[in-house]
Amino acid sequence: MRQPSGGNRITYQDGGLMVPDRPIIPFIEGDGIGPDIWQATRRVVDAAVAAAYQGMRSLAWFEVLAGEKAFRETGQWLPDATLEALREYRVGIKGPLTTPVGGGIRSLNVTIRQELDLYACVRPVRYIAGVPSPMRAPEKVDMVIFRENTEDVYSGIEWPAGSPEAGKLTAFLRETLGARIGEQAGIGIKPITRFGSERLIRRAIRYALEHGRKSVTLMHKGNIMKYTEGAFRDYGYELAAREFPAQVVSEERLYRDLNGQVPEGRIVLKDRIADITFQQVLLRPSEFDVIATTNLNGDYLSDALAAQVGGIGMAPGSNISDEVAVFEATHGTAPKYAGLDMVNPSSLILSAVMLLEHIGWREAAARVDQSLRDTIAARVVTYDLARQTAGATLVKTSEFASAMIERMAH
Ligand code: NAP
Repeated sequence: MRQPSGGNRITYQDGGLMVPDRPIIPFIEGDGIGPDIWQATRRVVDAAVAAAYQGMRSLAWFEVLAGEKAFRETGQWLPDATLEALREYRVGIKGPLTTPVGGGIRSLNVTIRQELDLYACVRPVRYIAGVPSPMRAPEKVDMVIFRENTEDVYSGIEWPAGSPEAGKLTAFLRETLGARIGEQAGIGIKPITRFGSERLIRRAIRYALEHGRKSVTLMHKGNIMKYTEGAFRDYGYELAAREFPAQVVSEERLYRDLNGQVPEGRIVLKDRIADITFQQVLLRPSEFDVIATTNLNGDYLSDALAAQVGGIGMAPGSNISDEVAVFEATHGTAPKYAGLDMVNPSSLILSAVMLLEHIGWREAAARVDQSLRDTIAARVVTYDLARQTAGATLVKTSEFASAMIERMAH
């Protein structure tokens, strides 16, 4: 892996990023359709930065390896140098990666998240006019999901039915704690900590404040799972009262003391049970803004919400810690389309928009975002949207990027 010449590192000082005019940004091209969508994304982003800053700023892309390309070139699926580069340069972007089946190899995506402690999965879900959607009014969907990434039943602490570990645990739970568990149960553990919940909720609240959002909803299943999901909710209210007393008002207080009027400059913190949330995001999407939730809930909700605005092919995402952020397409490698210059690059392009916003290059971010909207509104689309859009002009991945770049020049 060759470091680019002429770029500088992004540094982290006093809780914020210090971004030079030519930051080094590591990228993982990805497997399958990864190279197709990455090339398109890179061209679009470079063009937007050039147009926005007239050569005063640019990105020094730095390729780092992961997945099949890494295995071919180094014999490792995820070389240590890749993790080090992401850690050192703090902001990176990646295409989808194949999870090798069998051989005991963990998902590379999960490994990257765990190794870098990327505790928040952030997914904005917003409608883009012209994208086919199953909703009657999809434009009402404008939410940002903060999903906790490190705890919950996804921690991997589980044992199959019949294993000695499950047997021992079952015996302990029955005999020592008096729990009722059937014979031959598989056992999974659901850890939720104050530390893990607070750092996720803190980030969601800060995001809401910085982006002029109206509310943060804590989505949980605390009516049933009181000491995990219920604790997540309680930790959220306690954190807000302690750390954001002048900026956040709880929904309870809003109606008890303030007659339902949100004081200027404040956001509302509320909570909703997970099952009712799934109903309400469909029936009354305008009532939701930023949503902070536990790992499993967040996994389900992210894809369900993405479907409301036209599917995960369009949904951007990122995985973030306090110091490192990795932006990524949310779909997989779609191997049957690899190298065909055919698929929709929007998910990765919109992830790059998040990256530009993250480093504070809002002018460039806005250009990419607007151009993508204009291009799709003009019905210049790849096969996936073309097959559902009357009067569409079908374009290849690279042509979609060119159409976006052309629009940015005007
Ligand atoms: P997938 O790669 O997301 O593809 C499923 C289907 O979604 C495709 O056949 C295609 O549907 C549509 N699609 C996905 N991306 C698209 C795009 N950019 N433009 C247009 N259509 C798109 O899911 P998968 O087949 O289940 O997974 C394949 C591999 O990806 C697996 O190895 C999996 O582990 C990996 N994966 C990686 C990530 C990641 O790196 N973050 C995430 C998920 C899966 P049509 O054929 O109907 O057009």
